[in-house]
Order: sequence, then structure tokens, then C-alpha cells
Amino acid sequence: MAANTDDRPCMRYDPELWFPLSERPGTIELPTSLCQQCPVRVECLQGALDRRERWGIWGGFTTYERQASHPARLMRIAVNETAELVEYRARQAQVKAERQAPVAVG
Ligand code: SF4
Repeated sequence: MAANTDDRPCMRYDPELWFPLSERPGTIELPTSLCQQCPVRVECLQGALDRRERWGIWGGFTTYERQASHPARLMRIAVNETAELVEYRARQAQVKAERQAPVAVG
């Protein structure tokens, strides 16, 4: 049976949630968690990866996450679900924080 696309959370909530001005904690939790409930999440992510979407949250992944990881890895995570996704997101946050940390001089 085909998924009901009327059940897409981004069609029921303010679509601007999926296009935050910055991808900081506090702006991505709600839309990414709503994507986890979406009946077409895997197809949505595949479409965004195929189109090389540059902006927005698609299939539960942010622009940064889509650009930082291999598409096959993201698809595997999307299909395999939550535990791996939670671990992935924690690792990405750590990597991002390390990249943004000031470098000690001297
Ligand atoms: S997975 Fe895609 S279609 Fe579903 S709520 Fe998220 S952005 Fe919308």
C-alpha cells in the first residue's frame, strides 16, 4: 500500500520550520523529529539527495548533515532508524563543535 502523503508533517506545520536560518540546536529538533514520523521519509531523503538540495531539512537530515556524509550512509541510517540516527547525530554535533572551536596559538 502506498504511503499517504497527506500525513506529511511538513504539510501540517509551518513549512518555515524546515528552512531555519541557521542549523543550531533549538531550530532543528522539532522539524527533524517530525520527519521521523513521516510516512515518506526515506523517499523524501532520496529525492533531496538526488536533487542535491542545498537548503532545508529533508527526510530528517539538515543541509550540513547531507553535505557532511556519504548519501549511501544517510540512506542506510534513514532505513535502519532511531538508535543509529541518535548516535550519528551526536557524532556530527561533536565533529561540528570541534571544527568551530578556536585553535590555540603559541
Ligand atoms: S520527511 Fe520530507 S516530506 Fe516528510 S516531513 Fe520531513 S521534509 Fe516533509
